Amino acid sequence: MRGFSRREALRFVGATGLAAMATIPGAAQGSPSLPNGAGFYRFRLGDYTLIVLSDGQSAPGNAFPNWGANPGRQAEFSAALREHFLDPGQFINNFNPMVIDTGRVKVLVDTGRGQAGQLLANMANAGLRPADINIVFITHGHGDHIGGLVRDGQPVFANAQHIIGETELQFWLSQANPPANLVALQNRFTRVRGGAEIAPGITVVDTPGHTVGHLAVQVSSGGRTLWHLGDAGGHYILSFRFPDHYLGFDANPQQAVATRARLWQTAAAERIMVVGYHFAWPAVGYVRRAGDAYEFVPAFFTF
Ligand SMILES: [Zn+2]
Repeated sequence: MRGFSRREALRFVGATGLAAMATIPGAAQGSPSLPNGAGFYRFRLGDYTLIVLSDGQSAPGNAFPNWGANPGRQAEFSAALREHFLDPGQFINNFNPMVIDTGRVKVLVDTGRGQAGQLLANMANAGLRPADINIVFITHGHGDHIGGLVRDGQPVFANAQHIIGETELQFWLSQANPPANLVALQNRFTRVRGGAEIAPGITVVDTPGHTVGHLAVQVSSGGRTLWHLGDAGGHYILSFRFPDHYLGFDANPQQAVATRARLWQTAAAERIMVVGYHFAWPAVGYVRRAGDAYEFVPAFFTF
């Protein structure tokens, strides 16, 4: 089919249709009848191999209030999504655990949603078995990060050392109804604080706010640095564009905003690569200053 000229396009949609186009009907992708790729994205950082492993995507749904919870700001946030050709009513959430392969150890950052997710299938697509994982690191105790830890009462990553932040684990275990997967592994976890090196070149970074003891992961090899942000990254457009934006999921909004400001400033200044757990696939990129705020610049996909 030949392309439309702008004049033909105007005639086709009509004058009132132009306003309707702002909702971008074609932007609702992710139909199960149109599968793409194999659910993993592998790239090098210095001597290390990094593999983002998709745990899948949510069904399209309303972005708000969860993905921008500041009172009275949803219209502004919606307009920003539309400007990026995204329909705020058809927001698709991603879940992006990652494996860091140093050549000696394989570290898995977060474990997805468990039975509902596709982490293990996509891990198999990437040629990895659960038994290959040497270290499992948990950024924080939310269900979409710890759901894949345990199956039928047994640790899924049976050969792995399990590591989590001390403050984070204590917080969850002190709740009236602590998450079952954390309870199941409570005596197996190695508890660390921010700044701890969990494997050569891999340290954890204090990033509180989303949860009380959230830890991100810093990977350094061959003079390059990458952060897996966990949920300290927030939303891949709104959390950069609006310095005071916060999520409905952020336990302490002011602290989450302050943590993100610190992360973006350093990542932009030092050209640090970032991966966001809920960023759009494959969720790898950089942070750039944009006026008084920032912008996420996705890295180009390479085969
Ligand atoms: Zn999350």
